[in-house]
Amino acid sequence: MNIPNTVRIGSVDYAVELSEKPIVLDYKQCNGLIDFSQSKIVLDSKTLEQQQLEITFLHEVMHGMLHDRNLEEQDNEQLVEALAYALHQLIRDNPDIFEEQNMVKMAKLYRENKELISYKENGLEG
Ligand SMILES: [Zn+2]
Repeated sequence: MNIPNTVRIGSVDYAVELSEKPIVLDYKQCNGLIDFSQSKIVLDSKTLEQQQLEITFLHEVMHGMLHDRNLEEQDNEQLVEALAYALHQLIRDNPDIFEEQNMVKMAKLYRENKELISYKENGLEG
């Protein structure tokens, strides 16, 4: 899976930052954090290998989703971690469901090139 530069959770776009420096929260070093006041997610890219980085990203996204819905469970680390692992597995085991179907891609391509195609149908070249 790809870790994006930004991720929208609810109506808020969060910047995703990879940090080479240790991330400390409440005097404890952590793998990542989500900062609601600055709308950003920070991940420790120095100590985490790729899969752990992905799970940590999903962990912070889960915090964000629960926060966005104002759910009491937003600080339940055990639940958030379980959801992050479950989602990571879902994404890895079912890559096809997160890809656009070929027909959707073709339709989009057609719409994007419709003007060009109609020129050619009318014997005109752009
Ligand atoms: Zn957490």
